[in-house]
Amino acid sequence: MDHDNIREIRIDPIVPTQSVLISTARGKRPRQDESPLPRDVREHVEACPFCPGNEHLTPPSIFQIPATQKWDIRIIENLYPILDDAPLSPGISHGIQQAIEGYGHHEVIIDHTNHGIALHQMSEKHLSLIFAVYRDRMLSLYNSDPRIRYILVFKNSGKAAGASISHTHSQLIAMPIVPHNVQDEVQGSLVFYQKNGTCIFCTLIDEAMSLETTTYDRISGKVRQSYETGKYVVERGKQFIAIKPFASRYEWEVHILPIKHQSNFLKVTGEELDDLAWTLRRTMARLKTVAGEVQYNYFLHTEPHIKNSSDCAQSFHWHLEICPRTSIPSGFELGSGLFVNTINPEEAASKLRQAIMQD
Ligand code: AMP
Ligand code: ZN
Ligand code: ZN
Repeated sequence: MDHDNIREIRIDPIVPTQSVLISTARGKRPRQDESPLPRDVREHVEACPFCPGNEHLTPPSIFQIPATQKWDIRIIENLYPILDDAPLSPGISHGIQQAIEGYGHHEVIIDHTNHGIALHQMSEKHLSLIFAVYRDRMLSLYNSDPRIRYILVFKNSGKAAGASISHTHSQLIAMPIVPHNVQDEVQGSLVFYQKNGTCIFCTLIDEAMSLETTTYDRISGKVRQSYETGKYVVERGKQFIAIKPFASRYEWEVHILPIKHQSNFLKVTGEELDDLAWTLRRTMARLKTVAGEVQYNYFLHTEPHIKNSSDCAQSFHWHLEICPRTSIPSGFELGSGLFVNTINPEEAASKLRQAIMQD
């Protein structure tokens, strides 16, 4: 038996129908050089529609900080929206095939005036402001449009993460449905809450912070397995924690959560956001040290905006998922729905934790 390598299917504790194949030997297979394109580090690009001075190349600001000409962060309508409030087609149905209208709002948040700045290079004050802008814009969209059930905030950074524009930016898509990835987490954590009376995310945070957890065989009472779970912690702020998920889908995937139970991102305070900014900046700097300039997505999962959402106020826990895109999903992943991760999550967490940060 090869002790250095693991090959196991890990079940996601929150969404048990979602599993990940951790196969470290697979990471050793010969591959053609897939080294990603270097990040565009230019501060200003003459032809970039998101660079200051080129505001005429985009729709006008919906919101900007500060409100004067010289902005630090601005929100604009996406010129090529995925969802829009101008209907193109009514909801149709053909027998058992049904469609609902692609209604919604798609906006771009230009995070920073500096074209090529990376998150770990931004000041904590600025990072905190970006998340305050997300929160305030979400609140105002929910207040003005009763049809919206969920607003997904996400960031694509780099071509491998689906970005078509290299200027740092994030986006939000407000939609009339709750997307199923969110619904699955809401449902999975509700099931856990009904069974155990606690939030599964809080439980995972507690386990991650304690040094060891032991699982016992329920029938014989014998120790089944002993994990050193403290090893999942990547970074710990005063109010936020960055954790490497046990069933990480991506090699360098990290989640950031408020340590104290909070189901709704909309209730986050400015002071909490300052600590989120601290935790996020350090996490991104660790990623840079260990994995280089990774291309990544991040997205926010929070309580959906539905009338009976108080149903999940105790069981759901908002969080930010950071998914560095170091490999391209293959036919196996598409066909099976099983993600393949070639780095042992415990080892990845340990490397991230020990990283000497450069910035
Ligand atoms: P990404 O594809 O992740 O890089 O996101 C960039 C987004 O900006 C895309 O969804 C585009 O539809 C949108 N976009 C591109 N050019 C403009 C523009 N001039 N004004 C507003 N949105 C734009
Ligand atoms: Zn630019
Ligand atoms: Zn919780």
